[in-house]
Amino acid sequence: EQLGKYFKPEGDGIQNKMFALTREEDGDVKTDKEPGHHANYNKLIGKNECIVANIRRKPGDNEAVRAYVRAGPRAQLHFNPKTVNAAIVTCGGLCPGLNNVIREITRTLYFMYGIQGKVFGIVGGYKGFYDPKTPPIVLTPENVENIHHEGGTILGSSRGGFDMEKILDFIKSNNIRQLYVIGGDGTHRGAFKIHETCMEKGLHIAVAGIPKTIDNDVDYLDRSFGFITSVEAAQTAIRAAKVEASCNLPNGVGIVKLMGRSSGFIAAHATLGSGDVDLCLVPEVPIILEGPNGCLPHLWRRVKKNGYAVVVVAEGAGEELLGESTETDASGNKKLPQIGEFMKGAINEYFKKQGEEATVKQVHLLFSFIAVKKISFPANATDTLYCMQLAQNAVHGTMAGFTGFSVGLCNNKMCLLPIPELVATSPRQMNPRGRTWERILAVTRQPNTI
Ligand code: ATP
Ligand code: MG
Repeated sequence: EQLGKYFKPEGDGIQNKMFALTREEDGDVKTDKEPGHHANYNKLIGKNECIVANIRRKPGDNEAVRAYVRAGPRAQLHFNPKTVNAAIVTCGGLCPGLNNVIREITRTLYFMYGIQGKVFGIVGGYKGFYDPKTPPIVLTPENVENIHHEGGTILGSSRGGFDMEKILDFIKSNNIRQLYVIGGDGTHRGAFKIHETCMEKGLHIAVAGIPKTIDNDVDYLDRSFGFITSVEAAQTAIRAAKVEASCNLPNGVGIVKLMGRSSGFIAAHATLGSGDVDLCLVPEVPIILEGPNGCLPHLWRRVKKNGYAVVVVAEGAGEELLGESTETDASGNKKLPQIGEFMKGAINEYFKKQGEEATVKQVHLLFSFIAVKKISFPANATDTLYCMQLAQNAVHGTMAGFTGFSVGLCNNKMCLLPIPELVATSPRQMNPRGRTWERILAVTRQPNTI
């Protein structure tokens, strides 16, 4: 198994960052006409099928057409299902749907491709490849049968810790052929390093990423799994905040803090979905406290008109007011200032200046959901379906011999995307002059600070 024999770039331009394991030299190759190919699909994806990503055109645009490999089952398999051992790892923060993805990868490998090897579940993120305190577990269709009913990840997750040599030791000693890495930008950077190192060393391994970000901040993808579940869960918190604010006299103000480190998609969509929000604060739009465009006079007016007001705030909002934190977590991500607490103080003070008291409450839908970000919610039906598509297509991709790729929905079609492409432009942010934000201004009637 020599370098170069198994890996060669496919196509030109952007696609040359994604690699396909070559097939000719591999004696194990099966086509759909041969016994041993377990994916009996009517519709197989042709060799050069792709999905055009940037479909919008305006007169005068000369943007190059960007396209990604279409995901799905292929006529020819690179790996012989008989000899496939796989590993699955989840890293970074939690997100509804992680268990769905783990379950569907396992089931697809066993049921659709009939693999005869093992599927290892790596426990506690990248460290689990080598930490003797958290040895891997073996995943089977039986033991993953019911895991999608629970939030979180049965494998556990972590930040920090990425030892390439030790990870490769595990891969080699367990004869792993396919590695499935579920995580965010950091996790994908690690996954791509593993892929590159496998290439350099001529190891015959396919690495697939499944992008996980509750904030929906991956560019090029229609959305990320878990996002819709979170927006839906936030509705309960917003309703609770409204009840709290309307019952707590005088001048009740309810604050709901939602996820969104560098982009406010959850806060914005939850605001639009609920119709009960008077002020929505996101990282993309600067917060102005006082003056003609100030959010505090706006809240004062809303409270005077309705008796109460509801505020939704993304956790990463207001950095321009509070300053960037110098503290970082184990993976090097910077910690966020406490915008919810800050707004509570600012509202109280402003009302005092007007000669009245405010009753400000921060509402947490299940404290752990909002405040500590432990997402104990299982994925809803829409995200469950999406997780299934992501997992199945990750497996289709690796079985067909692609590596160094990630999967996602692009213009409502499943695609394989080169990992560097995916991480280069993340996190995506909402356009503060875009239509979503215009809708927010219309719904909340808050002043435009852009
Ligand atoms: P999220 O930020 O959405 O929670 P993430 O995947 O970005 O998810 P991180 O904690 O940043 O979460 O990273 C997860 C794992 O990836 C950690 O184990 C970290 O050590 C590893 N990692 C992060 N960046 C890199 C990198 N550039 N190279 C190798 N490993 C990395
Ligand atoms: Mg990250």
